[in-house]
Formats: sequence, structure tokens, C-alpha cells
Amino acid sequence: MPSILQVALDTPLYRLFDYRLPAQLGPVQPGSLVEVPFGRTLQIGVALERQHDSAIVAGKLRDVIRVLDDRPALSPDILRLAQFCADYYHYPLGAILLATLPPRLRNATPFAADTPWLVVTEAGQAAEPPTRARAQRALLDALRAAPLARATLREQKQGRHAAALVAAGWAEWLRLPPVVDHAPPTQAAPAATAEQQAALDRLLPALGQFGVHLIHGVTGSGKTELYLRLIDAVLAAGRQALVLIPEIALTPQLEQHFRRRFPGRRIAALHSGLSETARAENWLAAPTGDILLGTRLSVFTPLPRLGLIVVDEEHDASFKQQDGLRYSARDVAIARGKQSNVPVVLGSATPSLETYAQAVNGRYQLVELKQRAISQAQLPDIELVDLKHIPVDNGLTRPALQALTDTLARGEQSLVFLNRRGYAPALYCPSCAWVSPCPRCSARLVLHRTSHRLKCHHCGFETRIPPECPSCGNPDLKALGQGTQRLEETLAAFLPAARIRRIDRDTMRPRAWAELGEAVHSGEIDILVGTQMLAKGHDFPNMTLALILDTDGALYSPDFRATERLFAQLMQVAGRAGRADKPGRVLIQTAFPDHPLFRYLQRHDYAGYAHTLLAERKQLDLPPFTRQVLLRAEATTMDAALAFLQHAAARAPDTAGVSVFGATPAPMARVANLERAQLLIQSAQRLALQAFVRDWRPQLDSIKPRIARWSLDVDPLVF
Ligand code: ADP
Ligand code: ZN
Ligand code: ZN
Repeated sequence: MPSILQVALDTPLYRLFDYRLPAQLGPVQPGSLVEVPFGRTLQIGVALERQHDSAIVAGKLRDVIRVLDDRPALSPDILRLAQFCADYYHYPLGAILLATLPPRLRNATPFAADTPWLVVTEAGQAAEPPTRARAQRALLDALRAAPLARATLREQKQGRHAAALVAAGWAEWLRLPPVVDHAPPTQAAPAATAEQQAALDRLLPALGQFGVHLIHGVTGSGKTELYLRLIDAVLAAGRQALVLIPEIALTPQLEQHFRRRFPGRRIAALHSGLSETARAENWLAAPTGDILLGTRLSVFTPLPRLGLIVVDEEHDASFKQQDGLRYSARDVAIARGKQSNVPVVLGSATPSLETYAQAVNGRYQLVELKQRAISQAQLPDIELVDLKHIPVDNGLTRPALQALTDTLARGEQSLVFLNRRGYAPALYCPSCAWVSPCPRCSARLVLHRTSHRLKCHHCGFETRIPPECPSCGNPDLKALGQGTQRLEETLAAFLPAARIRRIDRDTMRPRAWAELGEAVHSGEIDILVGTQMLAKGHDFPNMTLALILDTDGALYSPDFRATERLFAQLMQVAGRAGRADKPGRVLIQTAFPDHPLFRYLQRHDYAGYAHTLLAERKQLDLPPFTRQVLLRAEATTMDAALAFLQHAAARAPDTAGVSVFGATPAPMARVANLERAQLLIQSAQRLALQAFVRDWRPQLDSIKPRIARWSLDVDPLVF
């Protein structure tokens, strides 16, 4: 009787595929990567269940070509987590499974890692593989005598047994010769503050099992120190820790910090700044490591002894993927914790309202740190500069300039925050009111003076700066508004003695952060100018002034999350000022000084504002009191996009408690020559909403006429 293997493939189809498993390939463990013919191509897929028959006529079944034994099988817990994502995000399982792999391991080319030697680990020295795993036992014995080269193992067809030993933690791939660990100078833990100790007294006893714990601590309160101590306890119990951090965080610095605190421990990092080879190597090393430190994609890494998941800066938007599988790594982390019965610790000075609401209602344990860890470090004074009464010159007011001048005179550092990169948001013709439209989007082209170009920040379109108005020929075009490049220029003109450095996506590569941190610490910079990237986790003791320009757009935005996001950003930026022994000062230029957001901000009252926002959301039936799913459609015309959504709405199942709203053009209606529209589905009951989408999604495939693209976004963050 032929043996049939179900294989998950990276296709947009919501189904698995049957293949015949030739006897000579032997048994295949679920999760193994296999190469199979698909249409006229070959594809890599993930082997799932073995079956004895198939709905497909036997003669039409095609053969599995081979098992890729240069890489380990996906573990059962990762298969289970992917299944959760397939159900929750209504996305094809195969596409999810393949996406959990680093790109370098998604193709059939043998992965010749830079680690050609298989070496027995400490655990492997003492391990007793089960008697029936005879080949594994033999290989382990051989390894106890001497390391074996990858090429030799391949010749002896031992690849799969080697992978099994590595997965069990009994052997590991190394660059030989295995040298003594040259750990960086170690750093002892500081004595915990009273608040930290109280937090530990609550958190440590909870480590043995699933539970979600929110550490809500003001900036500088020592949340990182708490993570380190929890991780220490988990490692001491022989388990592993997964630490998720935001995208543009200072991964290398954090990694260094971890290495100093845990000398001799195996720490792997995974983030998009790594080469594809390094990502594959670190992913392969993670299962035998102690700590995995990484951005959102790391949440899917196999960790057989997982004992703790930490999500630092859990409110950060970069945990949500904005295309393909639109998952929230924070939410997937919680699902993983639940499946594996492992505690999840979320930390933030400004938790998302979704998380905070769960902490307030008691579903998550709330642990608060209200004081900064270094006792002299005071929270800064926050002052508002009223733009309705104080004149602005090139985006800056007199009090703002005075504050910069004073800070400079004291030899201290300032940070100027403007959430718009480029020189100016647009180029403007005073004679005909032409405002540099993007030819492909409903957006303005941004003026980039240094590269002499106009760029679209939405679709990537670029063009030279025109010498005259393309519409009326007027040669006298003006920069409209302020971007960080222009601000840098303005500041240099006002403060010629200051050493100014601009930071935004145009100037920063991930590796440049370390260099920047050193430049600030060593006092080579007086003024840092930048976008929201500045709001993230830096610790600059001599930075005593934070100046915030032009945040008003968010105060009256149609996006219901805009004020939550702005408040978090301002709290975080304010948290950068005055972290050591020097008092800090925050100055905000605004035309709306009476907006309630500022009242809470000035009192550093996160909880107060969060409760205000939650009350508003509750009254308006908005998340977190309801759940949302957004159906997005993109088509060459807006009519086609809207028509698709109207067909979709007409096919909506009639589910109690689920509301289907009308189809509307997206706030950014055109991007890259496609018109975008959306349809919102909302419900107060998560399960009802899930059941609704489960019935609804298959209907969407058959809508005619077809459009360019559509997708479902579960728990959307941006509209
Ligand atoms: P957070 O992550 O909450 O913003 P950090 O963990 O970065 O705060 O801590 C802020 C500063 O306080 C850091 O310089 C850190 O070294 C210091 N710190 C934290 N805990 C202690 C402690 N118990 N004793 C002394 N210094 C501490
Ligand atoms: Zn013109
Ligand atoms: Zn564009």
C-alpha cells in the first residue's frame, strides 16, 4: 500500500497537498522539509501527517523527491503555533509555515553553514537516547570521541540523525576549533530597588506556568533589570528565554548587555539587520541556546526548552506585520505561551490600550514601577508653547530657541523631535498652487534637498527636483512646511556653534545606532534632530532637553488610535530627557494647549489618560471593547475596488453580534497606481467574529470580476 504524505506548500490556496512517499525515503517526521514537484516547478514544503489514502486518483499522485536533511524538522510546538495563526488570521497554513523559516532555509540549495563541525554538547555527554533510536545512539557515541565534519556526515547519510541530536540539544554545529568561551567582561546585577523587589516577589513565583504579566514602569524604572532577573531564574531551571524587541531597537547594545550579565550562556540574536546566512545560522543555533533575542519574526523560532517569553515595549507598532500574514508578534507570543504553558511578560512605559485593559480587568497581572531606578533621576517638567499666541519662525518659537541656547551653554544635550523626514513635506508653486503630487498615489512628493530629489514615502517613486513648476512654468518653487532636513538647516543657522546630528530613516542603517550612541555618550553631539526613531529605548544621561515640534495633526485625526499613539510617543520622548542626576525639561509647541492629552502628559499620568481613552472607546464601541477585521481591496479603479467589497458584504453570513459596515475608500486612497478601499467588520465577541470570517472567507475567492488584490487584516492597527 502506498504511503501518502500531506504536504503544506507556500501557495495562496487554503489546502494541503498529497504526495506519494517512496519507500526508500523511509519514514518522515512531521515538520520535516521536503522537496516536491508542484505544477511545472519544484517546491519546498513542510511534511505533515502520513495517510493511507487520498482523494486523488492513485495514478495522479506525484512522488516526494527528497527530504532535506541538512536542516531540522519544524518542531510540534511550531506546527501547532502555525495552525493557531492559520485559524486566527485566516491565512494559508503552508504560507505561514514556510514564512517561519529564515529565507536562506526556504530553498533547496544545501545550507553550507559556516559551522562545519558537529560537536557533542554538555547535555549530550550525559544523554541516553532511547534504545530504538539506534542510529542516533551510535552517532552520539562517535561524537563523544571526536567531532565530525558536516561533509563526512553527509557522505554517511547521517544528516537526519545529526539534525535529531541537534534538536535534542545533545550536539551542536560549531566553527572548529571549539575555543574557550571568550566572554566579555561580566557585569554583576545591581541590588534591586524596593519597587523592583516587590515586583520580583510577585513575578518569580508565577514563572512555572502560563500567565500574562504586564510590567508597566515609567521610563528608566528598570524594567530591563527585571527581565534579566526573571531570565536568570529561568536559565537556572534549565529552560530557555525568548525576548522580543521592537524593530529599530538597539539590538546590538542589548545583546552586549545580556552577554555581560550572562557570561557563558548561549545568546542568539535574530533581526532584519543580519545577513541571510547569519539569520539561518542563528535560527539553527537557537534551539540549543539559552536566550533568543529578536524582533517579531523570532516568535516562530523552535525553542524546545522554552520557559519564558518577554515582549519589551509591547505597545510598539513594529510587532504587527503589515503585509502577508498580518500577525501581531505580541499576540502570537501570548498564544505560544498558552500552548506551551509558559509565562509571558509584557513591558512598557506606555502599554497599548488592548493590553492595559486586560491588566485593569485582571486577566493579566499588573506590576507597576512608578519610580526611576536611579533615585536622583527625576521625571522632567513638561511645558507647552502656545502657537496661537507665540509667533513661529521657520518652525521654531523664541522660547524653544532660548531653551536650546541655554542647554548648549550648560554643555548639555538636546533632542529635537519632528515626525517628518525629508527637507519639506512638499514643493509648492505660489503662482498656480501646484503641490508636488505623486503620480502614483494620493500623496505629496517629499522634498529631499541633500539628494536633490522628490520622493514618495508611500510607493517609493522618485524624481529630480523640477527646475520650474510642471504646471505653469514658474521657476520660483518653494519648500512647503518643515521636515527634519530643513529643521537641521534652520537650527544650524540659529546656533552656529552647536554640533548637530540628524537621525531618521534616511541617515540611519541599523548598525549606525551603536556609533551614534557612542557619539552622544562621549559628548560629540549637542543637538540630535530626528523622527520618532528617537523615541525608542535610548539612555543618554546628559540629554536634558527634549523639544517637540508639530504634533497637532494627531490630535484631531480621524484615526481613533492617533491620540493613543501620540501620547505614547510623547511620554517616550519625554522619558529621554534627564535620566541621570540632571533635571530634564520638555517643551512642546502646539496650537491646542488645552487638549486633555497634554494635561495628563504634564502630570506623567499614563493611567489617567488611558482610562479617559478607554471610556471613550467603550462609549463608541471601539477596540479593545470590540474586535475588528478589515477586508482591504486594491484595484485599478475605485469603482472596481468598492464593487468587490459590496459583493463581499452581500455574501456576509448572518452572524448574531457581528456588524458589517459599508465599503469606503481607504484614507490613503491610491498607492502605487492602485485604488484602495476597505470594509470593516466588528464584533464584541471574538469567537463570533472568528466564526463569521471562517464562513465568509471562502466566499471571497469566487467574487467576479476579480480585482488586483484583496486581503484580510485581523486586529488591524492602521486603516
Ligand atoms: P527601563 O527599561 O524601565 O526604561 P532600564 O532598565 O533601562 O529602565 O533602567 C534605567 C537605568 O537604571 C539604567 O541605567 C539601569 O542600569 C539603571 N538601573 C536599573 N535598575 C537598577 C538598580 N536596581 N540599581 C541601580 N541602577 C539600576
Ligand atoms: Zn505653477
Ligand atoms: Zn507614491
